This record gives sequence, C-alpha cells and structure tokens, in this order.
Amino acid sequence: MPQILIVEDEPDIGELIRFHVMREGFDAVVIRSGRLAWQEINRNPPRLVILDLMLPDMDGLEICRRMKLERRTRGVPILIVSAKGGEADIVAGLELGADDYVTKPFSPNVLMARMRNLLRRAEAAGLGDDADRSVMTVAGESLVIDLDRHTVVVEGRPVELTRSEFEILRCLVSRPGFVRTREQIIAAMHGDNVVLTSRTVDVHITAVRRKLGELGSLIKTVRGVGYRLDECAAESTP
Ligand code: CA
Repeated sequence: MPQILIVEDEPDIGELIRFHVMREGFDAVVIRSGRLAWQEINRNPPRLVILDLMLPDMDGLEICRRMKLERRTRGVPILIVSAKGGEADIVAGLELGADDYVTKPFSPNVLMARMRNLLRRAEAAGLGDDADRSVMTVAGESLVIDLDRHTVVVEGRPVELTRSEFEILRCLVSRPGFVRTREQIIAAMHGDNVVLTSRTVDVHITAVRRKLGELGSLIKTVRGVGYRLDECAAESTP
C-alpha cells in the first residue's frame, strides 16, 4: 500500500514530489492519470493524496468529490497542488473537502511541511475528534474560547462577540493553519437568521480582528480564497 499517493501528470513534477516525500521517510507512488488514480485510491486508500487539479482524463476536483462521497476514502487527507491563478479551482477543491493546498511553482519544503501537518492532524483526529473539545486555546493561552459557555477571553480579559463573530472565530480556530473559504465560513454560521454574503463575512472578520486586539493579526486574509488563523504569527510577534 502506498503511504502517499501523488496524482500528477507532469512527469518532472511528479518525480520531484516523490523524491521529497521519500526523503521524509514515506513510500510514495506517482500516478499520472486521474482515472487510474481514483481506481487506486478507491481500491487501496493511502494515508494522504497529493493532488494536481489539471489532469487529462479525470480532473482533481472530481477525485476530491468522489473521495468525500466514499466512506472508506473520506478521511484521507487531500493536499492540492495547483497552478497559480487557479484560485477558483482551489476554492472549489477546499469546498469539496480538500484539506490544504500549495500553488505551482511550489517550494518543496513548504509542500513537505503541509504534508507532515496533515498527517499529524489525521492521526490526532483518529485519536479523538477536536470537535469534542469544549475549550479551544490559541497562541498558548492568549486566546481561550469556551464553546459551551460561548465566551472568549483574550489575554485574560473577557471579550464580547456577537453570535456570528463567535461562529467565525470557532470556524477558524477549529483548524488553525488551514484556509477556510468564505463559503465554509458562511456554512459554519448556519442557523443564524441573517442573509449571509461574502461581503458580510469580510465585515464580521474585521470586527473580530478589532475585538481580539493584537491577536486579531492572527487572522490572515488569503487573497482570492478566504481566511486562515495563523498561530505562528503570534510567536513571531514581540
Ligand atoms: Ca497537471
């Protein structure tokens, strides 16, 4: 069973990725056809899929869609590798359930860091779902979110968030380091009796950032895609 399945039709790129994956100590197989890749994933689910989106016979988005429909492949992390300028496809991929992405041309170190991160998270999810936790913390304990009580504490100081703002923050904090598209954020706010648009999300984000004070800078805008909570930014802030 390949640990890491690389779906990439450009041979040089496929080999480059394989080289780096194997150097990380994982078995890796490159498949150049989307159709064959899906057959292989379905027959023999790998630990993670590195997925190019533009493929000759079955595109990467279709593979994402099929993987998330099937119970046995649903939990396999998907890391998209897509051409720059393909934001619409990246957004579509994330909404179909892909976990992260890098754009071409990519830094192999960044790609490997994202891969290790996803593998670590998949393992943690197998041990106990983050969704069960009632208290989430960010940047040490600078930001503490209590999901049962709906309270947020920033640097020891309670902060009042509206329900929408709270749901947005929960959505971002539940997957630190990962991009959330505006559609995903809107979905997370489901149940709010307000008509939600991308613009509304942006307005709420601005409010959340302001209320979090200095920690507001942890919420990064990912141009053309959505938002991400970046915990590392906190550590680099003096
Ligand atoms: Ca391609």
